[in-house]
Amino acid sequence: MIILGLEGTAHTIGASVINDEGEILSDVRKVFTTEEGGLIPNIVAKHHIQEGPKVIEEAIKEADIKEKDIELISFSQGPGLPLSLAVCKNLARDLSKKLKKPLIGANHICGHLEIGKLLTKAKDPVFVFTSGANTQIIAYEGKKYRIFGECLSIALGNALDKFGREIGLGFPAGPKIESLAKEGEYVKLPYVVKGMDVEFSGILTKSINMFKQGVKKEDLCYSLQETFFSMLAEVTERALAHCDKKEVLLIGGVAANQRFCEMLEIMCKERGAKFYAVPMKYSGDQAAMIAWQGYLEYKNGRRIENNFDIKPGWRIDQVEVNWI
Ligand code: AMP
Ligand code: MG
Repeated sequence: MIILGLEGTAHTIGASVINDEGEILSDVRKVFTTEEGGLIPNIVAKHHIQEGPKVIEEAIKEADIKEKDIELISFSQGPGLPLSLAVCKNLARDLSKKLKKPLIGANHICGHLEIGKLLTKAKDPVFVFTSGANTQIIAYEGKKYRIFGECLSIALGNALDKFGREIGLGFPAGPKIESLAKEGEYVKLPYVVKGMDVEFSGILTKSINMFKQGVKKEDLCYSLQETFFSMLAEVTERALAHCDKKEVLLIGGVAANQRFCEMLEIMCKERGAKFYAVPMKYSGDQAAMIAWQGYLEYKNGRRIENNFDIKPGWRIDQVEVNWI
């Protein structure tokens, strides 16, 4: 079976063609970026409207198939920015009507988890999911993906990006913070773990204030990374012990951070667990994961309801898992 996936939950509009063996035949993405400011929803949506048809065309061409070869269209139904989701949904619906091929809506977070498993061969890990908008420690327990810990206010990527915006790094700031951190030394910051949850916003405010008071940005980048990543390593370790699992899989855009991988790897070694990180190429948002997720659900009997709509606040623990 040939599946076309469409991703459009936030900054990325992407299209990908895969087959039912999980081979990625094409993966085309256009990412909205800015030199200053952040993600302004209607400007991002305009970007997706403009680029959407082009990424679909390119994905088909790159996969070396014809449009009529597509047998299933899977799109990111949520969670995400409502305007981005709506653009993606419309593209998917129109294509499905035009080709007279079935449509399925995939949960973007399940997509991250499942492509991580597909690409690393991890079987039943504790997932550390850290992206622009999400920070969650997730594991499969009792027939559902359950959230064992999460951020209480802003997410890890967002906290890094906000700090970056304040110190003039533009979006996305994560990679720039990672390289500045290599030149930095530790300055004391608060450390906020509440039970199994983490809270980044106070630490962020404190760091911004320290920057304004003249603390070096390299030192703040280093200390922010050490603090944020340690907090998450602590909660992940406890989730591993609680669920009695033997694998950790880091997914989401922040998985590109080498220092974060290193810290989780050390923690796993000490516990006799195996650490995996999703390959950097597939750590961020892309449509291959949406295609794969849609296929897994479709194969196991899921069909989209007639009056489907976008699901901006769709939590992973609300997804009925039919494919495990
Ligand atoms: P996603 O939402 O999954 O596409 O991930 C995007 C987020 O990942 C943004 O907040 C980026 O700043 C962050 N990010 C990307 N690369 C890195 C990196 N090397 N270190 C830290 N954060 C990163
Ligand atoms: Mg994502």
